[in-house]
Amino acid sequence: MGLAGRQSADYAVIGAGFAGLAAARRLAVHKPQARILLVDAQRVGEGASGRNSGFVIDLPHKFALENPDPAFKQRLLRLNRAAIAQLQSLIDNHGIACQWSHAGKYQGAVGERGLAYLAHFEKLLADLGEPHHSVDGSKLAGILGTSHYSRAVFTPGCYLMQPAALVRGLARCLPENVELLENAPILRVDRDGTGGYVLHGANGAIHTRSLLLGTSIFTREFGYLQNRLLPVMTFASWTAPLNSEQCKRYKGTFDWGLTPADHAGTTVRMTQDRRLIIRNTYRHVSKYGRSVDSAMRERIRAGHRQAFLARFPELADLEFTHTWGGVYAISRNFTNFFGQLPDGAFASACDNGVGAAWGTISGTLLADYAVGAQSSLLDDIQAVTGMPSLNPPEPFLGIGVRSRIMLAAWQSRSEL
Ligand SMILES: Cc1cc2nc3c(=O)[nH]c(=O)nc-3n(C[C@H](O)[C@H](O)[C@H](O)COP(=O)(O)OP(=O)(O)OC[C@H]3O[C@@H](n4cnc5c(N)ncnc54)[C@H](O)[C@@H]3O)c2cc1C
Repeated sequence: MGLAGRQSADYAVIGAGFAGLAAARRLAVHKPQARILLVDAQRVGEGASGRNSGFVIDLPHKFALENPDPAFKQRLLRLNRAAIAQLQSLIDNHGIACQWSHAGKYQGAVGERGLAYLAHFEKLLADLGEPHHSVDGSKLAGILGTSHYSRAVFTPGCYLMQPAALVRGLARCLPENVELLENAPILRVDRDGTGGYVLHGANGAIHTRSLLLGTSIFTREFGYLQNRLLPVMTFASWTAPLNSEQCKRYKGTFDWGLTPADHAGTTVRMTQDRRLIIRNTYRHVSKYGRSVDSAMRERIRAGHRQAFLARFPELADLEFTHTWGGVYAISRNFTNFFGQLPDGAFASACDNGVGAAWGTISGTLLADYAVGAQSSLLDDIQAVTGMPSLNPPEPFLGIGVRSRIMLAAWQSRSEL
């Protein structure tokens, strides 16, 4: 249902990705009598939350893992694991079919550069006291069905899922006092003069006392966190499900996920329904999806094909059926925003590309914060979030980000 006419809500949540879905659900627990409107510009599953690679990762990611303060990383672990537990219980209680599995994750290295990153990753895990084990190339070949990798480190705490099925399943089982309005872009947010907000759509408006934003990078379109969030797009392709004859040629197992030791490399998954997924390539997209034309899409798909054939040459007849991308937010200081904006609205924005767990827990805790609830997890998230740093003005920003992405892709070419 879209947005039509004048609507009043006790709470309005914009954005129905992981963050907005979790925020609306938690508000409903705190305020069972309240009218809560959850509104998205698209259908649930069409945003980045439904388009990702399906890793729900417990470990602090990349730069956060480098943080010198062990307490900082323990807080992130607690938050990510709380998100996983929450998703697990919703999936169990509502029977959400989304290929959810406790498969763990391989962090894989191909060449010298990847191996150096992997050794560093192992050290960070050991310092953190997190379980992990090394898997050599030949053992890995029996699991992944490819001898492309030299070595990997397995960490057991990651879960895999089909993201569109998961978010659509979460939307289907929202509490009764949450009304979901899809295909309802909010074009402008105004103050109403009495401390509330008016959210303007094309054919209607929502009047609310309390506004929560789960709009990721698009938060800046409402004038919030301007010049602090960077729109980045990454892309994936998947194959048709392997047929029985291709299954005989494929020498690996099913239901595994591998992320690259060098983060500019390639992510690969074999899904439960026997599709191979390839994800790589980053683009700075000042105009979001509109920055990607068909020529760029073709180049990206060709790059995915090259990465696929390098790993699975014996499956060269296995075609990609879809290639897609999604936009998310990073910040130059890799700091996530969580909390209250100067005008009183609440926001979780900037997930730095790992929003399945982060979106879920930050949305949940944003609702706690908005109603004044307290918890040790709320303390954790407030301790690990802050203000994303200011970006330089265009055109310097675009030039800087594009150069950095190009340099990383070139340096990491062995891992692509
Ligand atoms: C190809 C790809 C692979 C990825 N792989 C992983 C992975 O394996 N694991 C992982 O954790 N993360 C991954 N990510 C990142 C992850 O998808 C995001 O971090 C996550 O989806 C962020 O969730 P969110 O709810 O904060 O934001 P989003 O999912 O971006 O949701 C924001 C919502 O706000 C809506 N919106 C925006 N503006 C308006 C408006 N004006 N009016 C109404 N609605 C509006 C949008 O339509 C959107 O649905 C990947 C991303 C991509 C693109």
